[in-house]
Amino acid sequence: MVQKWDIVIVGGGLAGYVAANYLAKTKMSVLLVEKSKEVGGRARTNKIHNQYFNLGPHAFYKKGKAASIVEELGIQLHGNSPQLGGVLVENDIEYAAPFTPSGLISTRLLNWQERIEWVTVMMKISKMETEKVAKLTFEQWVGQTAKSKKVQSLLYGLGRLATYCHAPEKASAKVILSHVKAVLGGVIYVDGGWQTIIDQLQNKAVISGVHVQTHTTVKQITPVNGHLKLTLSKDEEILAKYVICTTGPHELAKMVSEEVSLFADSTAVKGATLDVALSQLPNPKRLFAIGLSDPLYFAVHSNYARLSEDGKSAVLHVFKYHHPDEHIDSKKVQIELEQFLEMLQPGWQRYVITSRYIPQIIVNQRLPQVGDEYKLHRSKTELRGLYIAGDWASPHSILAEGAISSGKQAAEEIIQKEMR
Ligand SMILES: Cc1cc2nc3c(=O)[nH]c(=O)nc-3n(C[C@H](O)[C@H](O)[C@H](O)COP(=O)(O)OP(=O)(O)OC[C@H]3O[C@@H](n4cnc5c(N)ncnc54)[C@H](O)[C@@H]3O)c2cc1C
Repeated sequence: MVQKWDIVIVGGGLAGYVAANYLAKTKMSVLLVEKSKEVGGRARTNKIHNQYFNLGPHAFYKKGKAASIVEELGIQLHGNSPQLGGVLVENDIEYAAPFTPSGLISTRLLNWQERIEWVTVMMKISKMETEKVAKLTFEQWVGQTAKSKKVQSLLYGLGRLATYCHAPEKASAKVILSHVKAVLGGVIYVDGGWQTIIDQLQNKAVISGVHVQTHTTVKQITPVNGHLKLTLSKDEEILAKYVICTTGPHELAKMVSEEVSLFADSTAVKGATLDVALSQLPNPKRLFAIGLSDPLYFAVHSNYARLSEDGKSAVLHVFKYHHPDEHIDSKKVQIELEQFLEMLQPGWQRYVITSRYIPQIIVNQRLPQVGDEYKLHRSKTELRGLYIAGDWASPHSILAEGAISSGKQAAEEIIQKEMR
């Protein structure tokens, strides 16, 4: 007997579990299939030597769409907001970051004219309607908005910080700037890591009747007599009236052969992460830094969130934003990250409890580009009953914002369709 479900959700990350939670409120039968043994996708947290490591630095926007959806679903987010401030690094020289009034006054990075331009641009961003720049790349917008090279370089740094995208000549100004606006509203580092969000979503879904099958890969999705047939890892077959696919576009294209191939050649946003737990910080005052001449990031997350069993260690992340066309020399990047950390926390190696280096990780499945809206719209309608969600599937946002809002949207579209 082939099992029949009303809805099968492919992927147990944020998008999949958010969709599952909305659908759990209906009478429809829901199965969530996840290929890994563990659920969570890229929002997973690993406990290593009693330290909680997110997969690289993870900050949750306090005022974004995702925050209101998570709240609507009754998910508790515990943790604190990092203070703004910190340093900017340009050609190995540290400067106070002009993100706070005192940083703005004290920084030697900008002259007075540049300070005024920086403040004017920041005010412009906070008030802007990002839809108005939908036809521009981030580079074009920066070029039109700021004259000073220093202010331009600060804007690129802020854009990377907010979106992880390091290709201003390709990236959509609308998406980058809407995320910059969200970041300016503050972020939270979550106690226990993002796994706590996943665990709550999973518990709520399961209690409400959603079935979860881990360690199972969906290999193929094919239309059969008004339903969708899913072929699973061991060639088991199941049928569904609707499928929400939250995998990346490449996996999706493989599953459905040619039909949803519009994004099969899309570029992902990638980076390298060095996740480190130290028994103590050599320089406890240095908690945050971003590179301007090099696309680098450093932040101590444990000062604002409990990220170890005993709450005593320092859990920090050093990150390099990769350009999509760049060849990655993994060893070279590791040395670069370690040297950046050495500059900010001299002698850190003496205090290492544990560390993990990932040279290339997909941060977002799609680098948001001008015109993606139209492609996304088309790809949605090509296979009846198939809905896409995930951090690449929203035309307006990426990262957790995109994953969570597209998960909700896919679920709502199905619910509305059923009600008609
Ligand atoms: C280093 C790093 C830093 C980040 N920082 C931030 C941040 O600060 N703020 C922020 O908002 N976001 C951040 N993100 C992004 C955020 O983690 C992701 O956007 C989000 O977790 C993606 O969720 P998703 O459900 O779309 O995809 P995923 O989490 O990738 O989930 C998809 C799931 O589908 C499963 N799957 C794939 N193929 C199949 C198949 N054939 N069959 C069954 N299952 C399958 C996968 O195993 C996976 O579990 C960061 C990501 C990384 C990597």
